[in-house]
Amino acid sequence: MTIATKVNTSKKDLDTIKVPELPSVAALKAAIPEHCFVKDPLISISYLVKDYLLLAGLYFAVPYIEHYLGWIGLLGWYWAMGIVGSALFCVGHDCGHGSFSDYEWLNDLCGHLAHAPILAPFWPWQKSHRQHHQYTSHLEKDKGHPWVTEEDYNNRTAIEKYFAVIPISGWLRWNPIYTIVGLPDGSHFWPWSRLFETTEDRVKCVVSGVACAICAYIAFALSGYSVYTFVKYYYIPLLFQGLILVIITYLQHQNENIEVYEPEEWGFVRGQTQTIDRHWGFGLDNIMHNITNGHVAHHFFFTKIPHYHLLEATPAIQKALEPLKNTQYGYKREVNYNWFFKYLHYNVTLDYLTHKAKGVLQYRTGVEASKKAH
Ligand SMILES: [Zn+2]
Ligand SMILES: [Zn+2]
Repeated sequence: MTIATKVNTSKKDLDTIKVPELPSVAALKAAIPEHCFVKDPLISISYLVKDYLLLAGLYFAVPYIEHYLGWIGLLGWYWAMGIVGSALFCVGHDCGHGSFSDYEWLNDLCGHLAHAPILAPFWPWQKSHRQHHQYTSHLEKDKGHPWVTEEDYNNRTAIEKYFAVIPISGWLRWNPIYTIVGLPDGSHFWPWSRLFETTEDRVKCVVSGVACAICAYIAFALSGYSVYTFVKYYYIPLLFQGLILVIITYLQHQNENIEVYEPEEWGFVRGQTQTIDRHWGFGLDNIMHNITNGHVAHHFFFTKIPHYHLLEATPAIQKALEPLKNTQYGYKREVNYNWFFKYLHYNVTLDYLTHKAKGVLQYRTGVEASKKAH
């Protein structure tokens, strides 16, 4: 109660930020070469096949890896499975956005083929993910990101406050916490969760859930009905895939300088400009279909540009945002070979959002740093 009063009083004194003129989506689109908007189903399918083959290769190699390199080799294999599993996820991600092809039936089919084997329920995830894109950096409507304000933080229990700080949490945040338990957006597997509003949503939830269950059953049968084998060679790799996905998503929308907006300050372009391209290096960006270093382009044109054109569209967007270079709304890119440690570090330092100006929030560390600089 005291905290809420304190925040409300200080809110009254906040300045309004003067926003420079931002380009329209149409102006950005006009700046991008036209062929970037062409979806070629055969190229898209070839990436799906490529990722299956890579995963098959990893399964073929694992007995040798374990034989010659022991548990250290197995640990490396888990990371590789996490990366390639996330690549497969990204193919399904294009299906979910309709940027895989112009045929909805093909997108839905390939989306399930890509996502069900990694136990991601395609249609429910498609729904929550769309809200992330439509309302990026919106304090209340940006799904997938539990934006934590000072008030939320102070009302949290110790375990809620520090859960993200515990490194092991990264392995559990996607599966089971986000998709199964449903924190914060509602369960993606339970048809009557708060994520769904219509009967169609609920039927789709059941169909996608059954597709995952069939894949899990096949994996269990291939494991010789051994729980130990199933967990070691199927479920643990999936936890690594979940970790990689959490890191990707987290790093693309978080640093000490990004802004999050209350409804009256939020705008589509303004919100999207808070997205960050991150170059992971070691060939990983390429393997994961440039979800990491082409995310800004993806955010502006999520239904229109397939992953294999993101890198061509990026310099055009960078150029179009050039006049905003020295403002909060310029193109953002970082080279992060230390992506894993960066993620762990941010989990400790980016604890909660606080008001920077009227209707505009930033992480506490960013607000404090800019106060010191002035
Ligand atoms: Zn995003
Ligand atoms: Zn997306």
